[in-house]
Amino acid sequence: MSDINDAKDALIAAAKRCFDLRLQTNAGGNLSVRLESRDAILIKPSGIGFNECNRDNLQLVRMDGRIEPNPHRPSKDLGFHLGLYRTRGDINAIVHCHSPWATGYASAGLEIPCLTVQSIEKIGRLPLIPLASGGRPQTEREINPVFSDPGTVAAVLANHGTIGVGPSLMSAQYLAEIIEETAQIAYLRDMLRAVHGQAALAAVSASH
Ligand SMILES: [Zn+2]
Repeated sequence: MSDINDAKDALIAAAKRCFDLRLQTNAGGNLSVRLESRDAILIKPSGIGFNECNRDNLQLVRMDGRIEPNPHRPSKDLGFHLGLYRTRGDINAIVHCHSPWATGYASAGLEIPCLTVQSIEKIGRLPLIPLASGGRPQTEREINPVFSDPGTVAAVLANHGTIGVGPSLMSAQYLAEIIEETAQIAYLRDMLRAVHGQAALAAVSASH
């Protein structure tokens, strides 16, 4: 049992870090981790905030979809989490947030450009996944095909939020942070370009 409690404590710590960094407030978003035994995952319950996750409310779900009895329900995004773990053996953790800068881009229908050396190296490209038909939230049907490419480690959901995946909880957490940072940097770049004009910026860069 101790390995389950260790995994729970790591998930709780990641959730609190997301909350403290304002990547996810209220009860939205979700995150999960695959147990070392690889036969089950732990996932945030539905309707519980990142800052309220604890050992008692985290949900244990078997890889075949069986849910350990619990007063709570797993996140409604359980389907795409299980789908990614089943198809990508390299994924051991998923962090999904509605972080505001990235979701702003996603709501404007814009792909977030990877501009910095870190985002280019760690992510490469941030695919923008459209809403499901009828304007409904994305499910495994829209999300999982984008991650069928083993080089895809992150994506952005139109009008919704972000997904970072990784071999460890910390690596997925870092991606959630880099996505948000990348969106903020891209916004600042575009605003500065708009205010100062391309010509002025080109003159500055030419003088260096
Ligand atoms: Zn969501």
